[in-house]
Amino acid sequence: MAERRPYQSIPLWQDVDDAQWNDWRWQIANRITTVEQLGQVINLTEEERRVIAESLNTLRMSITPYYASLMDPDDPACPIRMRAVPTMFETQIRDEDQVDPLAEDTDSPVRGLTHRYPDRILFLVTDQCSMYCRHCTRRRMAGETDQPLPQSQIDEMIAYVREARGVRDVLLSGGDPLTFATDKLEYIVARLHEIPHVEIVRYGSAVPVVMPQRITDELVQMMKRYQPVWLNTHFNHPREVTPESRRALAKLADNGIVLGNQSVLLKGVNDCPYIMKELVQRLVHNRVRPYYIYQCDLSQGIGHFRTSIGKGIEIIEHLWGHTTGFAVPRYIKDVGGGVGKTPIDPCYIISRSERMVIFRNYEGTIGRYIEPEAEETRSGGYPEQCQICEERKRRGLDQPQVGLEQLFSGEVSALEPAHLDRHERNQMARAKRGA
Ligand SMILES: *Cc1c(COP(=O)(O)O)cnc(C)c1O
Ligand code: SF4
Repeated sequence: MAERRPYQSIPLWQDVDDAQWNDWRWQIANRITTVEQLGQVINLTEEERRVIAESLNTLRMSITPYYASLMDPDDPACPIRMRAVPTMFETQIRDEDQVDPLAEDTDSPVRGLTHRYPDRILFLVTDQCSMYCRHCTRRRMAGETDQPLPQSQIDEMIAYVREARGVRDVLLSGGDPLTFATDKLEYIVARLHEIPHVEIVRYGSAVPVVMPQRITDELVQMMKRYQPVWLNTHFNHPREVTPESRRALAKLADNGIVLGNQSVLLKGVNDCPYIMKELVQRLVHNRVRPYYIYQCDLSQGIGHFRTSIGKGIEIIEHLWGHTTGFAVPRYIKDVGGGVGKTPIDPCYIISRSERMVIFRNYEGTIGRYIEPEAEETRSGGYPEQCQICEERKRRGLDQPQVGLEQLFSGEVSALEPAHLDRHERNQMARAKRGA
């Protein structure tokens, strides 16, 4: 007689064996999608049942048996449960909510692809996820079809990357690219890999969190054929770092896949410096570098998850200096309307004079740094310009500068919006005078 497994104590899975449980295809095929099934795993009130049925119209529910087995059956505030189980709050749309707050569809030269930053592309291979997170920022599309994209569209996306010479980093996301069959995924990765200007391929996948069974030897062998490969996963809470997910992370790390993590700051889930510190330390212990903490976006129906920006700053304040430097993620606000990602930091420079900068550290101790005299930085036997800059200038390789770069390089002395009333006024006045 085999030992009883914890999941077998849940009536829904009492006859399931390890071979099934550990097979990701079984996990996908047996996702919890109805209130009836969910009611066999956690205890739901009548009210909760009604509300779940209602909010399913916004983003489909689908919970892998593995992730569901981690839920506290009696605690609606269980962080695992809050990621997976819909609530009535999702039906509430606030004034500030938007369908596509990051304007990903606007910066999209080919459907499925967002090209916003100069050297990297977001490549949305599917709208399917193994599990749908209630806080998903891409609710407008995640789970819309629960299917991979048609081949013809993928080929168009690859063709775009092939032509986009400046792109050196392709980020496969979705949905979750690791819901693809390995051979289908390899088709995409192999083609991207053979494009000379594509230096790295990145996967963005929640699979190590919500369906670690997907990290099979076959998948990892495929992934490592196309090095250098990075994978960013999506742990939000230390309770998600289970023995199963640790095994999946170890398999990836042992095979040379560089691991990072992106969390979303979520009210009632991880908006606490102590929870976040435990999370980042557990991640580092498992060879995952905490990469970003995102401020929750203005997508529709996730207002109840949003915190103040101050909460995020407070968390970074509790991490920086208090723990390993590379355990501290960057806190990011992806500013709407296509403005894009901007980092947010606590202020460590508290004052400065002409040559002195005053800093405080994590303890509140204050110290100073004395800068070299302007004269010194220009002499001392070194050329004023570095040789690479000189060479670029000589060969006419200088790219047009972007943003503040133009101020630094002296190309312009001020940056102005495209339209300014005072310019228009002056122009009109000049025109009138016939000047
Ligand atoms: C986040 C994002 C990327 C990747 O950004 P990194 O800061 O390099 O991780 C690329 N394109 C888009 C549109 C994104 O939103
Ligand atoms: S895995 Fe990512 S894309 Fe999929 S539902 Fe969760 S947050 Fe959204």
